[in-house]
Amino acid sequence: TSPIPWLSLSKEEKKKFISSLDSVVSDCDGVLWLGSKVIPGATEVMNGFKTLGKSIFLLTNNSTKSNEELSRKSAGLGFNTTEDESIGTARLTALYLKSIDFKKKAYVIAGVAVENELKSVGIECIGVGPDVFQVRQHCEAIELMSQQNGIEEGVGAVVVGYDLHFSYPKLQKACTYLADPECILIATNTDERFPLPGRVFAPGCGAFVAAVAVATGRKPLVMGKPSPFAIDLVLRAKGLNPEKSMMIGDRCDTDIAFGNSANMKTLLVLTGVTDLELLKRFENENKTDLLPTYYVPSIADLVDDMNE
Ligand code: PLP
Ligand code: CA
Repeated sequence: TSPIPWLSLSKEEKKKFISSLDSVVSDCDGVLWLGSKVIPGATEVMNGFKTLGKSIFLLTNNSTKSNEELSRKSAGLGFNTTEDESIGTARLTALYLKSIDFKKKAYVIAGVAVENELKSVGIECIGVGPDVFQVRQHCEAIELMSQQNGIEEGVGAVVVGYDLHFSYPKLQKACTYLADPECILIATNTDERFPLPGRVFAPGCGAFVAAVAVATGRKPLVMGKPSPFAIDLVLRAKGLNPEKSMMIGDRCDTDIAFGNSANMKTLLVLTGVTDLELLKRFENENKTDLLPTYYVPSIADLVDDMNE
């Protein structure tokens, strides 16, 4: 069925839908904020859901913040959320490794947040920070690689997140570690890019994951939306009833796909990566798994629905 414009609903229909919800899970960037700027009205709406007695969770695919850092950011912007209600993919990765009782070292192609979350569940991490060949010639690089420069024993997982220091030597190490069939490949998320102010785009973690996957011939286990692992962790661990929950997001292939496959209600906002044209295209192509229940220009359009 076609996505319903939220603004086409009557006051009563909106009220009835909102009162049917026990919990609201929201994506962060593109829905609640853009970079460091809060989307006006977003705090009123999320805090309003809480005042109405619903549990709220912030769920981001961003791996560059620990849950604690994420909750500090959201509190600083005015969201009434605790660390328990703020979930990023650095923590999801740590929880997954803990759940499989992972005891080896992790080679981490990601930032310090992933390292810190992994350390907090007792996992030894190597690899975070710059790793570049100080060479100008191909032959010198080959020489360095063949010496297995910096390859350590006991690595049982390669973890790929957002890494500003992604480099050829890191890719080479990933190939070497993953040549061992026992070594697992984990991706925090696969977002291909994200928008920055001024119509600038930044390559996302998915670009790094794709490079590692191609070079190693491995299929990564993905922690972030829309993966089933994220569903397990967020819905089952938090005890949410999907039928009485709504996922709010700005990306159809991560947020909306996540909500749909978890059987949640879904709301797409058009303040992030998806515009109406793209939504219509998914609809015409009959990509039902990507279609939200409702869509709305901005989360701010729900402000009035909070005080009934
Ligand atoms: N990954 C990184 C590194 C980001 O900076 C962002 C957004 O800023 C995202 C992913 C997407 O985050 P979200 O899932 O909150 O939209
Ligand atoms: Ca987003």
